[in-house]
Amino acid sequence: MLGQIIGHIVTHLVIPFSMYLVLWRARFRTKIDWIFLMLISLSYTVYIYFSGRWDWLGYPIRYVIPVLFAISLVRSFRWNRGVPFFIPRMPAWNFIYFIQTLVIILFGALAFFAYQGTRAPAEAVSLSFPLKHGTFYIAHGGNSAVLNYHHLSESPRFALDITRLEGWGRRARGVYPQELEQYYIFGDTVFSPCKGRVFVVQDRFPDLALTQVDTSHIAGNYVGIRSGTVNIFLAHLQQGSIRVQVGDTVDAGQPIGRVGNSGATNEPVLHIHAEIGEPSDILTQPGVPVRFHDRFLVRNDRFVMP
Ligand SMILES: [Zn+2]
Repeated sequence: MLGQIIGHIVTHLVIPFSMYLVLWRARFRTKIDWIFLMLISLSYTVYIYFSGRWDWLGYPIRYVIPVLFAISLVRSFRWNRGVPFFIPRMPAWNFIYFIQTLVIILFGALAFFAYQGTRAPAEAVSLSFPLKHGTFYIAHGGNSAVLNYHHLSESPRFALDITRLEGWGRRARGVYPQELEQYYIFGDTVFSPCKGRVFVVQDRFPDLALTQVDTSHIAGNYVGIRSGTVNIFLAHLQQGSIRVQVGDTVDAGQPIGRVGNSGATNEPVLHIHAEIGEPSDILTQPGVPVRFHDRFLVRNDRFVMP
């Protein structure tokens, strides 16, 4: 837990702010040196802007990152205008240039895949948003593994994990609190995202403490709703909260349960995804993309529901 908090603060604050500080203050020997640091900062900024989890520390910080980068870039460009483009140096400098090139390629590729993940697939199942009364945040979602860890597996390929934002755009009281009740989404009512028939219900797994993950029952408690040719699954629900039974017909917007922390999840989230094919159990058929009110949602998108 502490390790995750430290890792998060380092990647989201310490690394970008240190780079901007160096850009802001440094007097470079050559323009090549400046170009290297500028490209490292640019690729890291794009990467962390798209793929960072900005619901941990507060969503507005996401916008501070590119603004600080732009300001420090302009200032450092002005300060270093007069320096020579290149000067011959000791061979050891080639190694430094080589390492810097690798860093640029790494974060450039991550930034590219993060951006690619925001692009909507042509076809998608149209659904209503399954939560109400608040501002919701897409913690995992999108068309690449950089934005959506589900993307590596076939069935939940286009799954979304959703949290709720309060106050300063945070998903919980604290960065990574221990108690489930500290997460704003925990206990929120889940609504059916479509008209359909309930064909599977699982409600026997407990809501786990934050440090526990049930890897033998990944989805925890869930509901499967058949709509047309697709099966919609809502997972990690609170034990004892499910209000529908197998065979029930549901309408879009009908309450079906509450957000919990059952199964394999690191914290309370609502998981939703669609699979295509015959009605069968969760994680057995190919996943298909979903759209909510015509939006293809990806990590860092927010969705406001009355
Ligand atoms: Zn999930």
